[in-house]
Amino acid sequence: MSLNNMSDNQTVENLVIIGSGPAGYTAGLYAGRANLKPVMFEGFEAGGSPGGQLMTTSDVENYPGFPEGITGPKLMQEMKAQAQRWGTEVYTEDVIEADLTQRPFTIRSQEREVKAHSVIIATGANAKRLHLPNEDKFWNQGISACAICDGANPMFKGNDVVVIGGGDSAAEEAAYVTKYCDHVHLLVRRDEMRASKTLQDRVLNHPKITIHWNTEAVDVYGQEGGFLEGVKIRNRQTGEESNLPARGLFYAIGHTPNTQLFQGQLDLDETGYIITKPDSVETNIEGVYAAGDVQDHEFRQAVTAAGTGCQAAMLAERWLSANNLATEYHQDEDAEATATRSEDEDKPTADTEETFDINETRHYGGYALRRLFHESDRVLVVKYVGPNCGLCATLKPILDGVIDEYADKVHFVEIDIADEPDIAENAMVTGTPTVQFFRNQEIVDQLRGVKQKSEYRQRIEEYLAETVSAK
Ligand SMILES: Cc1cc2nc3c(=O)[nH]c(=O)nc-3n(C[C@H](O)[C@H](O)[C@H](O)COP(=O)(O)OP(=O)(O)OC[C@H]3O[C@@H](n4cnc5c(N)ncnc54)[C@H](O)[C@@H]3O)c2cc1C
Repeated sequence: MSLNNMSDNQTVENLVIIGSGPAGYTAGLYAGRANLKPVMFEGFEAGGSPGGQLMTTSDVENYPGFPEGITGPKLMQEMKAQAQRWGTEVYTEDVIEADLTQRPFTIRSQEREVKAHSVIIATGANAKRLHLPNEDKFWNQGISACAICDGANPMFKGNDVVVIGGGDSAAEEAAYVTKYCDHVHLLVRRDEMRASKTLQDRVLNHPKITIHWNTEAVDVYGQEGGFLEGVKIRNRQTGEESNLPARGLFYAIGHTPNTQLFQGQLDLDETGYIITKPDSVETNIEGVYAAGDVQDHEFRQAVTAAGTGCQAAMLAERWLSANNLATEYHQDEDAEATATRSEDEDKPTADTEETFDINETRHYGGYALRRLFHESDRVLVVKYVGPNCGLCATLKPILDGVIDEYADKVHFVEIDIADEPDIAENAMVTGTPTVQFFRNQEIVDQLRGVKQKSEYRQRIEEYLAETVSAK
């Protein structure tokens, strides 16, 4: 393990924030504005992705301030930009160890070790999924883990939907989606529900809800590339299987809070949620706070997560000040200006015959790709991105950093598949982000999704070596 910061180990940060959903970014914003210069580990792949759960959803219609709605990835990009504008230092790394038993606290990722006087845990909770054979094909295309968030999708209007689960959430969500669809089928594995009596009564007596007792889902179906058309179900007593036509499927089978790192250090409830003091986000350790879904098994909404992120930062600031531990940092105006640059200003301009220069490392668009494919004598790295692609935003700083390391040795082209669908089709790109590596007019490798920097480096090193030896 390399610990880049070993020499800085004497520095004790005011505050480390673990996690970058609405709770983490809001905590970063408030702590930054309090001049605490918080350090954030925004995560990489443990417990979700940077930006949190909303990176996987399209429209967020219930976050205040956006009357027309906003996409999940866009909302999270804006939250991140706002936190960074006020000085939050963000590392796209997973925390692999947190020692809260000694002060200052120690937080470790694979790349660094940071000491801090206070910590905000905002690692969220992952909705449990059944991992049905065809589930991935229809995820966000009818299947969701949040009926409260996605139930109002116009696709469900006038159609039937399925809710799976037997607890309070399932009962509540089933009742909620009746407002938006024709009929709700509630699948319950046993012959009774775990939900409270009141909630059970609500679903048992609801004219738009049918409960299928002793029933489980075995798969989902629909047209390839289309919207969900139904759920294949099995009666657990008779073994009989049948198709239940439905446009929507909502999992309400519980969440797993991302608290493995804190077991044995913080008080957790039986499911693993962090227990906070009543009406507060304070944990059982002074100076350690928990915000968002990691401590909330009831509301689990972006706005409630943001609210508790704000509370956590304000409490951390008060606690640091009361204990004379706060070091104040003041930002310079240039840094603020850079951080507030809009996304559109960052969007590259496509190369044309007039602007294309083969000596440049970075390029954009189909014209550059065609020229480089035929003329480049370097390793050619092509990144395919799409609009509203949250993972593309995550990949950007990671791959940009690697390309900077190999400037003049590689050529890099970015293709927006919405602008140039023919190129994406020819390149057989089925999802974004995808990164392809070419050498001597041949594709030699491709990586889908977001990988660690080391994986991109390793590919480039390998093909560079081959390019040199072939010369
Ligand atoms: C499909 C879907 C749609 C939704 N739609 C809506 C909606 O429309 N409106 C709404 O209000 N809510 C919606 N929600 C709920 C909402 O997303 C959550 O309530 C909210 O994101 C919780 O925020 P959070 O900050 O607590 O955690 P999360 O958003 O879960 O973020 C957790 C963060 O912690 C990081 N992390 C985890 N482990 C580690 C580690 N070891 N090291 C570093 N980082 C780590 C993750 O990378 C992630 O960045 C939706 C949820 C889902 C799943």
